[in-house]
Amino acid sequence: MTDLQDRSRQFLWHPCTQMKHLESWPPLAIAKGEGPWLIDESGKRYLDGISSWWVNLFGHANPRINAAIIDQLSKIEHVMLAGCTHEPVVQLSERLGKLTGLGHAFYGSDGASATEIALKMSFHFWRNTGKPNKNRYISLQNGYHGETVGALSVTDVSLFKDVYAPLLRQSAQMPSPDFRLAEAGESDEAYALRCADALEAHLQQHAESTAAFILEPLVQGATGMAMYHPVYLSRVRELCTKYEIHLIADEIAVGFGRTGTMFACEQSGILPDFMCLSKGITGGYLPLSCVLTTDQIYETFYGDETAKGFLHSHSYTGNPLACRAALAVLDIFEQDEVISVNRKKAETFTSMMEPLKTHPRVKHFRHRGMIWAFDVADAAPGFSRAFAQTALEQGALLRPIGSTVYFMPPYVVEEEQMALMIKAANMVLNK
Ligand SMILES: *Cc1c(COP(=O)(O)O)cnc(C)c1O
Repeated sequence: MTDLQDRSRQFLWHPCTQMKHLESWPPLAIAKGEGPWLIDESGKRYLDGISSWWVNLFGHANPRINAAIIDQLSKIEHVMLAGCTHEPVVQLSERLGKLTGLGHAFYGSDGASATEIALKMSFHFWRNTGKPNKNRYISLQNGYHGETVGALSVTDVSLFKDVYAPLLRQSAQMPSPDFRLAEAGESDEAYALRCADALEAHLQQHAESTAAFILEPLVQGATGMAMYHPVYLSRVRELCTKYEIHLIADEIAVGFGRTGTMFACEQSGILPDFMCLSKGITGGYLPLSCVLTTDQIYETFYGDETAKGFLHSHSYTGNPLACRAALAVLDIFEQDEVISVNRKKAETFTSMMEPLKTHPRVKHFRHRGMIWAFDVADAAPGFSRAFAQTALEQGALLRPIGSTVYFMPPYVVEEEQMALMIKAANMVLNK
C-alpha cells in the first residue's frame, strides 16, 4: 500500500464502500488524467472504461473545458443565485431549454438533489392547483434515482435501501420493462406494452393520490444497464397525461448523448413534465444538476404569495464555474457533431464485440448508444471484484455490477483503446 492509499484509508470514508475491504483492495491512487486515461502515482495508465462513474464525456484534462473554466475563474467563481444572476447560468438555461423543449431550469449540485427537487416541485404543483392529496410517487422496479432520503424512497435497490427503510416514504414500484424479463417467445416491445398495462391498472386505482411517476428513460443504469423498448416511454407518456400524473424523466445517467440521442426521451418522441440532468452535464468536471420543467408547471408557482413559490435552495446553485464547464460541453457537442460521430464509432465498437457476444459465458449482450453490457453466466461469488482486479492489471478500469459487465467509455475513446477493454474482458471470461 502506498502512502496515499494508506492515508486515504485512515482519513477518508469512501462512497459505496465497506471500508474494511480496502485492506485487501486499496483504492487506485490517481495522480493525473489525460483523455480517456487515468494515470496513477507510478505512471501506470488505466483506460477509464466507465467514465469515472458515468460523468466524463470528453476525456480528462480536456483543453477546451479547461480553458472555459480558467477564463471564468478570473471573472467570478461563485455568487449566490437568490437575488443575483450571471451570464453562464442564464446562457446555460437558454440552451438547455432549447435542447429539451422545457423552458425553466432549476439547479442543484448533484443527481440526488435533482431528484429531490423534481419530487418536491411535482407535489407543490398539485398543492398549488388544489390537489394536495396527490403526494405519492411511483417508480420502476430496479430503478435508481440517488441515495438521499427522498431519492432513496423511489430507488429500488435493496442493498442501498433496506437498512434505511424505516426512514423512507413508501412508494409503489411498477414492473420494469427490462427486456430480459420478457417471457419466452415474447418480443421486447410486447413485453414493454404489457408492463405499461400494469402501470395503467395501478393508476386506475391510485391516480388520485399519485403526484408523479419517476423513471430512467431507456436504460436503468445502476442495477445493471437494463435496457427496454422505447414504446414503453410513449405509452407511459399517454397514461400519465390520461390519469393526470407527472412524468419525471431521470436523464441523470442517460442524458448528453449516452443512448445515441442528446436525451433518451427523444427516441420515443416524448416530452416529460420534468427532466433531471447531472453527471455528463459538466463533462465530468464539476458537480452540477438541473431540473427542467414546462411553462404550465412553472406558472402555477408564479404569483404574489411567497409560499406559492418554490422555496428550495442549495448554496452552490448555478455555480458559474460549473455552468461554464457545461457550456463548453454543449459547444463541443455542436462543433464536433458528437451525436453523429458517436453513432459511427458505436457501430465500429459493436462489430468489434462480435466475438464477445458469442462467447459461451455471455448472456443478454445489449447495446444502446455509447453503452454496452452483458451478463456473465456462472459468475462465482466475488465475480465483480475479481473481474475489476484482472481488468486493472490489463490496464482498464471496469466495475461490473453484480454479474453484469458493461463498457461506458468517454466519447473520445478510440478503436485501439476499445480493443484493449474488450481484450481485458475476454481474458477474464476465459480465466
Ligand atoms: C447517478 C444517478 C443519480 C444520482 O446522482 P448523484 O450525483 O450520484 O447523486 C440519480 N439518478 C440516476 C439515473 C443516476 O444514474
